[in-house]
Amino acid sequence: MADPDLIYLDHNATTPLAPEAWEAMRPFLTENWANPSSGYRFARRAREAVQLARSQVAALIGAEADEIVFTSGGTESSHAAIHSAIALHPDRRHLVTCTTEHDATLRPYDEFAARGYDVSILPVDAEGRIDMAAYEAVLRPGQTALVSLMWANNETGLIHPIDQAAAMAHERGILFHTDAVQAVGKVPIDFSQSRVHYASMSGHKLHAPKGVGVLYVKNTARFQASQLGGGQEAGRRSGTENTAGIVGMGAAAAWLARAAKESVGAMRDAFESRVLAEISGVTVNGDLAHRLSNTSHLSFDQCDAAGLLILLDEAGVACSAGSACMTGKQRPSHVQLAMGIPEARAKSSLRISFSRLNTMEEAVAAADALRKAVEKLRRVQGAGVGPVVVYSPR
Ligand code: PLP
Repeated sequence: MADPDLIYLDHNATTPLAPEAWEAMRPFLTENWANPSSGYRFARRAREAVQLARSQVAALIGAEADEIVFTSGGTESSHAAIHSAIALHPDRRHLVTCTTEHDATLRPYDEFAARGYDVSILPVDAEGRIDMAAYEAVLRPGQTALVSLMWANNETGLIHPIDQAAAMAHERGILFHTDAVQAVGKVPIDFSQSRVHYASMSGHKLHAPKGVGVLYVKNTARFQASQLGGGQEAGRRSGTENTAGIVGMGAAAAWLARAAKESVGAMRDAFESRVLAEISGVTVNGDLAHRLSNTSHLSFDQCDAAGLLILLDEAGVACSAGSACMTGKQRPSHVQLAMGIPEARAKSSLRISFSRLNTMEEAVAAADALRKAVEKLRRVQGAGVGPVVVYSPR
């Protein structure tokens, strides 16, 4: 049980289990521990539960149940997609991605670059967007093995035009993968209407447990497995199924598909308006018209993010500086550098990310705690107060 006084605003890093997910998982960690692939009746319940989870996840993203491949998480799913595209097209030596992708995409791309692949990494503008004309220009029909473009950015919440980008790749006979880890459950997704061939999802970002994920593989797309063995998941991902994790992911997807009591966007907006009204020298980073409704990426003039995080932690508010993977490293994240955010501003930025498990009271209390933390830090550091940056949502 988390500290009841904790205000948790770091849902892009990880999310608490949905109570429904835990209830659905429990029997598969206690009385029904069967291997879902076994032939006896005792295993049938586990097998049926995995199948139910497959349809629950499919329903959330407009997919068919047999397009869902359970994996261990977002990183494995992206690796599987990248390796599949490379294996399917041994003659194609070109890959496309974007500079603000998660390391789960950038690091395997680095590996292929080291092996002699030609990698086009699209730059982004100051708001984190790619230029669609530049994107079109880098596509090389017959040579590009894969485009990988994230649906939503984990730090700024920026949403790329994935359906448009996927259609452009598809028209040119190029496989298209999206890292949809931060998008699923936050933006409407209907893969039946899109040209996306592969998509990565992660359980722990959507109120399911850690250690489970999904690779969506479009029925009309070819896929070559890289994890070989017992042939589970229709031969697309070998390894004994993580029954409880999969069941939790299905239940969390079903829970997300139902209407939320309080709009996450309303909480984020209330928090941001209060911060902007009460604290001077604040900048909202990213493309305000195309960002996740749960994410707020803010910079505070003359404040060190590390200091702010300590003061917020003392006040019972958990959020992060840049992405969680950067915490502890004293340098701006690659996302902020790619957007051209000056180093001082980058080092003074926080990512605050809500979920439907938050309340409006928490949003208001967190804004107040943040105001006190900024005031204290500026006082302690003896810094002056910067100018108010006018924020006009588009
Ligand atoms: N992609 C994005 C955008 C993420 O935010 C994360 C997690 O931080 C991942 C991939 C990796 O997912 P997982 O932790 O399930 O491997």
